Amino acid sequence: MKRPPQIPLNQFQLAILLNDDEKQFYNAVLAENVFCRSCAGSVAKGVTVTEIHLTDLNDLLVRGNCKVCKGLVARTFEFGDKKAFYDRAMKFRKDIS
Ligand SMILES: [Zn+2]
Repeated sequence: MKRPPQIPLNQFQLAILLNDDEKQFYNAVLAENVFCRSCAGSVAKGVTVTEIHLTDLNDLLVRGNCKVCKGLVARTFEFGDKKAFYDRAMKFRKDIS
C-alpha cells in the first residue's frame, strides 16, 4: 500500500486529531521528556513547539526549541502504531484533502 504524504499540522488540527489521553501524553512528554543535545539531558523547562507534522506512518513529528538554551529539539510520537489513532489520522487526511 502506498504511504500517505507527510503533512504539516497547526495547533487546531492537532487538537482535533488527539484524544484526551493522547493530549495528556503529548503535553507531558514535551514538558520534560525530550532530549536536548546542548543541555545534554532532558529539556528542563519544556519545548517551544515550532512545527508539527503527521508523518507517512501517521506518527507525529514535533520540532521546536528547548526553553532553557533555545537549542533545536525534535521528538517523534509513535501514535501511528495504535490502530485507533491510525484510523483517525486517515480520516483526518481525507477530511482536509
Ligand atoms: Zn537545551
